[in-house]
Amino acid sequence: MTKQTHSSGGFLIALITLNVFITKYLIHYSISYGLLSIVIFFYASHIGSLFPDIDMKSSFISKRHPFISKIFGKRCRHRGFTHSLLAMLILYVIFKLIIIISNDNIIIISMCYGFFIGYASHLILDLLTKEGIELLYPFKANLNVFFIKTNSNGEKYFNRFLKFIISLYILYNIYLIANNVFHLDILNYLNLNNFGK
Ligand SMILES: [Zn+2]
Repeated sequence: MTKQTHSSGGFLIALITLNVFITKYLIHYSISYGLLSIVIFFYASHIGSLFPDIDMKSSFISKRHPFISKIFGKRCRHRGFTHSLLAMLILYVIFKLIIIISNDNIIIISMCYGFFIGYASHLILDLLTKEGIELLYPFKANLNVFFIKTNSNGEKYFNRFLKFIISLYILYNIYLIANNVFHLDILNYLNLNNFGK
């Protein structure tokens, strides 16, 4: 899939996992520190959602990081190792070690957690493409569960669908914040207004 669709996927997965991230890690931090961590979490998810395409010279992420791209480009086929569960497992172990070494530093946790879920979103989206990915690398079988063609009209519609879900999710979160933090029951307010007419 294209950079645009992967960006949407990375944003959506960060939104979906945001509540877990906040309750698991940010509950004891001040609001300013929490907000900074959330921004880093979203940014890391964005980078993670683009990173697996480092195995393709012409991708956005490869152009941004030509040195890393050279390392992966020489050794990996496109949609091979970097698009596999093995890569995710290695990433998980490395991040776990970095977090332990950093003594559970919240900034490091936000970066690692965000990057990891963004990375996962990339694999999920590429599994929906006709071309598939070598999810079970080193086994050389391209797996896919759907047949969206990269850069086709189908992908553009799919990206619009993702953006629609993102909008719904943001609205739902605004509703939750209004309700829980400011004690404003928006739905009740709208109902009352309708009855008044
Ligand atoms: Zn990819």
